[in-house]
Amino acid sequence: MKIGKLFKEKKVVYSFEIFPPKLTSPIKTVFDTIDELSSLAPDYISVTYGAGGNLSNDRTTELASLVKNKYGIESLAHLTCISSTMETIDTIVKGLRENGVENVLALRGDVPVNQFTPGDFKYANELIGYLKHTSGMGISAACYPEGHTENKDMKHEMEILKLKADAGAEHFTTQLFFDNNHYYEYVNKAKQKNINIPIQAGIMPVTNKKQIERTINMCGTAIPKKFLRIMDRYEHDPVALREAGIAFALDQIVDLISSGAPGVHLYTMNNPYVAKKITENIGSIRTALNEAV
Ligand code: FAD
Repeated sequence: MKIGKLFKEKKVVYSFEIFPPKLTSPIKTVFDTIDELSSLAPDYISVTYGAGGNLSNDRTTELASLVKNKYGIESLAHLTCISSTMETIDTIVKGLRENGVENVLALRGDVPVNQFTPGDFKYANELIGYLKHTSGMGISAACYPEGHTENKDMKHEMEILKLKADAGAEHFTTQLFFDNNHYYEYVNKAKQKNINIPIQAGIMPVTNKKQIERTINMCGTAIPKKFLRIMDRYEHDPVALREAGIAFALDQIVDLISSGAPGVHLYTMNNPYVAKKITENIGSIRTALNEAV
């Protein structure tokens, strides 16, 4: 099923993101994780692209296919285009379709720091338009409630969101955020621009200090004082920090769902324990809402 359709059928769509293991580890090292995550019955699982500098999509395709065919759970394969030709994209999409995967998260990807050969696409909206006309896939895209690291101007961000929607994106997933107000303001601005495509909230339960430092560096996400206090208080107590990180994410999720967010996407970091704790705690909220549709 196309992810866009899932949003029409459910009041709240709940999903997980996983990443393939580095090429130096066998792919099967992630199989147990997928097994555990699948048992939590998410509406779909997305699989990132380009882990460990792997710019072939083989592992993404293999894992997205496993999710769909072994567990009967919809899968969303991430796909970046910054150095790809149309031919490469066609080959990857063909592989996905042959394996029953119906959805792609169409991304530009980060511009490589070292020299690289530009491909046929400069921005994600070009890939989205291309897929719309050639692939028959469900198309999702990324968006940034606090602006993208290369351009934090929110007016520009809204123009890009509109470009992606007009090109054929049927669903957006946000960059992670720790302050729900950023999300609410973003969704309101999108509505004012007449963008009525579901914007799913991306939430990352932070369970260790290194992770949070990496996150700030990578996406420039603002860290609320409340969150910093947790980090400082429990930084030398990994178990307490993990539990506090889960509680913080849960608080965000309950608020998002209660405020009418159409979906929550959990950046699981391949950690089934965390996903399980969160899923158990929102189980009855999900059921009640979706039964009321
Ligand atoms: P774009 O939408 O193309 O935007 C890139 C930059 O260019 C932005 O600053 C934007 O404002 C600007 N821009 C866009 N279009 C135009 C235009 N037409 N004219 C002028 N300026 C423009 N990365 C991976 O490598 N693998 C993954 O699996 C992955 N998964 C992700 C999942 C989610 C939900 C998110 C939010 C991000 C993910 N990323 C992933 C990171 C993503 O690749 C980077 O954030 C990347 O820098 C931007 O990708 P994009 O598709 O948003 O690009």
